[in-house]
Amino acid sequence: MADTPTDNEQPPLILVANDDGIESPGIKQLAAAMQALGEVHVVAPRNEQSAVGHAITVRDPVRAEPREIDTPAGRIEAHAVTGTPADCIKLAANQLLPRRPALVVSGINRGPNTAVNVIYSGTVSAATEASILGIDAVAFSLCSWEDADYVPAGRIAARVIGHVLNNGLPPGVLLNVNIPCRPYDEIRGLRVTRQARSRWEESFSERTDPFDRPYYWMSGEFVNLDEGEQTDLAAVEDGFVSVTPLQHDLTAHAHLDDLHERFEDAEAEEAAKHAENSSS
Ligand code: MN
Repeated sequence: MADTPTDNEQPPLILVANDDGIESPGIKQLAAAMQALGEVHVVAPRNEQSAVGHAITVRDPVRAEPREIDTPAGRIEAHAVTGTPADCIKLAANQLLPRRPALVVSGINRGPNTAVNVIYSGTVSAATEASILGIDAVAFSLCSWEDADYVPAGRIAARVIGHVLNNGLPPGVLLNVNIPCRPYDEIRGLRVTRQARSRWEESFSERTDPFDRPYYWMSGEFVNLDEGEQTDLAAVEDGFVSVTPLQHDLTAHAHLDDLHERFEDAEAEEAAKHAENSSS
């Protein structure tokens, strides 16, 4: 949940991050969309960090260059960071911002972060890191790899964040929002979804470097294994905005009791037998 503001006069501080890099069109549209809702600071990677997942930088220094970025809503204060999306959130929250942010928004990513892509996504990881720090967070992705129009997605983001600022999020829950790439008036509405089961089927081309050593280049094909209607993929396909609640607690809670029996109880039985044998 967001911190209770001590000073009601102060607008909420909104931290904007991404993984496509600080000069990408998606982050500029998102920062512009947030301008009407609060005080906006952008802290984002200097270079593209797509698919770095939740990596953090621990063996190298991280540098943050203050700059202003040009957005459709004018110039906005920003820092360009040499680290990953998760680094950006940690550094911003602990060091760069004048106070604790009320909200972190990440994106608008170029390309979908539906299904298993959530695992690899730097965009989602920025929001996850905020959630770990106890800050409400939402990741936004536009489902197109082309040079798309980010204006409709920006309007969607403003609407979703309006809800979040008014109502907050459950503790430990962040939102992963995927927006279909179509004109604003052709977006059919919003669906709360779950991640579709899916995987990438990868192949590697082997090539030879100038020193005659082999190297590998990965490519992959996305495979949807889920025909369910409640999924993020189905929503976007049908022209709806997909809103998936995520949590950084990766525990498979539904299986705790089952595995308790299989491991702890079996282990305790073994130990009891062993004690019996050695005492006799
Ligand atoms: Mn990206």
